[in-house]
Formats: sequence, C-alpha cells, structure tokens
Amino acid sequence: MTASQPSNNSVLIPRDQHTISRRNISINALKVMQRLNQSDFQAYLVGGAVRDMMLDKQPKDFDVATDATPEQIRKVFKNSRIIGRRFRIVHIRFGREIIEVTTFRGSHDNADENDKHQSSANDHGMLLRDNVFGTVEEDAQRRDFTVNSFYYSSQNFAVYDFADGLKDIEDKKIRLIGDPSTRYKEDPVRMLRALRFCAKLDFELEQETGAAIGENAALLDKIPAARLFDESLKLFISGQGEKTLELLQQHDLAQYLIANHKLFSDDPVWSKLLQQALYNTDQRLAIGKSITPAFLYAVFLWPSLKEQMAILATEGMPVTPALHAAAHQVIGMQMLKTSIPKRFQATMKEIWEMQLRLPKIQGNHPLKLLEHPRFRAAYDFLLLREDAGEIEAGLGQWWTDFQKEHPIPPKVYTPRGDDSQGDDSDNPRRRRNHKRKPRNGNR
Ligand code: ATP
Ligand code: MG
Repeated sequence: MTASQPSNNSVLIPRDQHTISRRNISINALKVMQRLNQSDFQAYLVGGAVRDMMLDKQPKDFDVATDATPEQIRKVFKNSRIIGRRFRIVHIRFGREIIEVTTFRGSHDNADENDKHQSSANDHGMLLRDNVFGTVEEDAQRRDFTVNSFYYSSQNFAVYDFADGLKDIEDKKIRLIGDPSTRYKEDPVRMLRALRFCAKLDFELEQETGAAIGENAALLDKIPAARLFDESLKLFISGQGEKTLELLQQHDLAQYLIANHKLFSDDPVWSKLLQQALYNTDQRLAIGKSITPAFLYAVFLWPSLKEQMAILATEGMPVTPALHAAAHQVIGMQMLKTSIPKRFQATMKEIWEMQLRLPKIQGNHPLKLLEHPRFRAAYDFLLLREDAGEIEAGLGQWWTDFQKEHPIPPKVYTPRGDDSQGDDSDNPRRRRNHKRKPRNGNR
C-alpha cells in the first residue's frame, strides 16, 4: 500500500533536479520510512539531513517525520521509545544509531478542544508544550528555518519545499519561517540555532531574522540550564566553535551561555585565551582528535576564578583552599546559566589545580605529575595561557622538553591510548553512542 503524497506540485523538486542520492542516506532511516509507508503512514526524511545533502554535505544524523502518532510509531517499531514531554518524539534504535521520528506538528491556533491541553504558552509567548499534531504542510510551517524545512520522500525520491527554502539555499541565507519575533518568543533557543547554522554552513542571517535577535535576546535567561548546556555543546564542539563564538559575541548572546563578565571585557589577554581555545578545539576535531567540554569550560571560567582567588588571597586565605573556594563559586555562577555534569566539573577543577602544581619542577615532582591523568589537559592549558600572554612564556617549553626526555609508555601516559585533553573518560564523543541525542528531544 502507498501512503498519500502531498498534492501541491508547485513545491515538488523531482529527483533529477536535486542532489540527494539514496546512497548517502542511512539504511536504517530508509528502513524506518519504508516500514511506516507499508503501514500506510506518510514518512519523510527531514531537517538537517536533507538540508546538508542539498548542499552536498554528508549529514551527521537522520530524522524522519510522519503522520503516525508516537503511540502508532511505537506499535510499528519494537526497538523504539517515546521521549520528551514538551515535545514528544520517538527514538528508534538500530545498534549504535538512533533514528529520531517526529509526528507532524500542527498549528496551535487550530487546535481543537481535545488538542488544547497539548499546546500551551507562557506570558512571553514561549511554547511550554508543542504536541498538537497536523498535516505535513502545517509541520513545515512549524519548523524553524526555511532551509530546515525540506521533506524527502523515499517513495518518489522527490524533495518537497513547502517553505521556499530552495531560494535561501541558493542565496546562503538563514531565514526564520514566519514572523521572526513571534518565532523567537515561542522558542528563544532558535536565536542560538540561527547563529550555529550560519557558522556551520557559512550562511548569513536574513536581515529580519537577524534584526529580531536584539529585542528577544534576554528571553534566553528563561531557558532551562540543562537545555542550554546541550545547546552549548553543539555550538562550541561541533567544529566551528571559533566562528560561532564570534557570531554569539556580535549578537551579544555569549553572556547567556557563559558566566564570566571578564571574558567579554576588552582585555586582549582574555580575548586571545578564549579565541585560541576554540581555535584549538576546532583544529583537534578537524583531525579526529578527542576533546572534552571540561577543557573549554575550564577556559571559560578561568578569568573569574583568578579574580576570585585574588580576592580571597587579600583576605589571607592560602592559595589551594582559595582555589577550591573560588572554583565552587564560579562553577555555581555558571550553573545558573548552563548545567555542567559532575564529571566535567571534577575535570575542570583538576586542570585548574594542576596550574598550581606545574611550576613545581624540583626533584621527582615532575615525573609524578607526568603520570597524572589530567597532565596532558593541564599542560595544554598552560601553553594556552602562555600563548595568550597571561603568564610569561618558558614553563611550557620546559614541560615540552621534559616530556621528550621522559617518554612515558603509552599505557601510563594516556590510559585510553591517545593524546586527548586528559584522559577521555569524560568525552561525550567517546563515552556515549556516536549519536548523542538530547534527553528531551531537540526543541
Ligand atoms: P544538525 O545538523 O545540528 O543536526 P538539524 O537541522 O538536523 O541540524 P536538529 O536539532 O537535529 O537540527 O533538528 C532537526 C529538525 O527539527 C530541524 O532541521 C528543524 O526542522 C526542526 N527543529 C529542531 N529544533 C527546532 C526548534 N527549536 N524549532 C523549530 N524547529 C526545530
Ligand atoms: Mg539533525
């Protein structure tokens, strides 16, 4: 049996007029679409996967949209579970790969009485619940940007462009669907996503999409800290961190993600430290080296930490307890903006503590430090501080030479066998499935 196709042909891009080839689509995503179609449901590949393939890029994951409700999807796939409350979706697991399946969302204005409880907004227009289902055409209007609103059918191999995204792909524009201010108010995270896609795709913000950021920026304060942490990882450790931070600063949004006023002052040392840390992270990712978010957060909070430590020192507190007290304080401030999982907090503190220990190069102290699981991260951190001009250069070179003279067998040197920023037990790219999905879906 064949599920119905949208009737409006004006939005159809036939297979010979787009660049998407089945060969680049995950076999599991194709299976999901096929099984849904066989059960007489509509199913399309949507979101970033279609966008990236339209741009001749290989997608990192595959999302499917359907008219089947979450419960109906569950019945078709045993290997699935419903996740999210605010935005209910279904994850279908195939080994290490998860295909995210979303039921078409409908317009909240037309929600009938039965649907009303599935849709709610607060006084600012922010959607607290977005589980009103609708047609594929309505779903397309509920998506964020025009370039994220293509639907690929594995039945006729056509792409449906209901939101006029093709023109924006050609013009390299990120444009919100609908009235920008209303859409940002519904979900302020869309402001961050807009900048992320600009950096990732090397696109520009369409004028009104950019202009509406200023007046809505403060709404980011209302987003739960856990969601902002997930979003921060996508912003800073997806390979375009340096460019993304530049855009965040241009639009005055970095302050909603990082609790460190000193970092955003005009101080050239802190600007360099921050920029270089993100540049290094991008470089590591480009050549497939592991990274840990803890390293970046250690950098983000370092200027504040130092400031706090200096205050505590004037009160007579010795340096190590001052570091612990200051760490507690600055991490606490950061947690008001984004959560930071405990394991990352522990690594950040170790990197900071090591900055007090690395200058102690007498006796057998250096050999012991070399074996510390965070030595490598702490050494990288030290080099960064020297590069930025925070401290005089010299100690970094001493440690570089010392490591050459004392090569440590790999087993001791890096317990998990590479030269990651410290060991990589806290690296989400290693620790978890290669596809990491936020716990509450993506909205
Ligand atoms: P990425 O390459 O980062 O995966 P993506 O576009 O696939 O980019 P996802 O977060 O995976 O982004 O979301 C999948 C799709 O769901 C998006 O392309 C978009 O159509 C829709 N979407 C996600 N988040 C939102 C949101 N906050 N508001 C509206 N639509 C959204
Ligand atoms: Mg995606």
